[in-house]
Amino acid sequence: MSDCLFCRIIKGEIPSTKVAESSTILAFRDVNPQAPTHVLVIPRVHVASLAAADNPVMLGDLLSFAASVAKSEGLEDSGYRVVANTGGDGGQTVDHLHLHVLGGRRMTWPPG
Ligand code: AMP
Repeated sequence: MSDCLFCRIIKGEIPSTKVAESSTILAFRDVNPQAPTHVLVIPRVHVASLAAADNPVMLGDLLSFAASVAKSEGLEDSGYRVVANTGGDGGQTVDHLHLHVLGGRRMTWPPG
């Protein structure tokens, strides 16, 4: 989608700090980090949200990629959180499916 922020990052029209990538997935640092490590993992194909996702293989790949990013960021032993904010009540602000990988500090529960 030409007006989607994350599609524009994928196309290189908006700069990002790339962490990892594959032919179908891009991981880059969140511009407003909420933890010492805060990486966004997104599919290259435009999918608006988790609610709009209809490809279980893609979703599995995305989750697996998030775990590999957490490992490469050195979070595997200390632990980390993977979040998919979805829709208005979920706090989603960018309508392109993304997983937040957060780590480097102790998370609290429940989330705000
Ligand atoms: P969400 O609120 O779950 O939709 O998450 C969207 C995330 O995208 C937020 O954590 C923002 O800080 C992040 N974000 C917005 N614009 C950019 C950008 N240009 N580069 C990296 N992260 C961004």
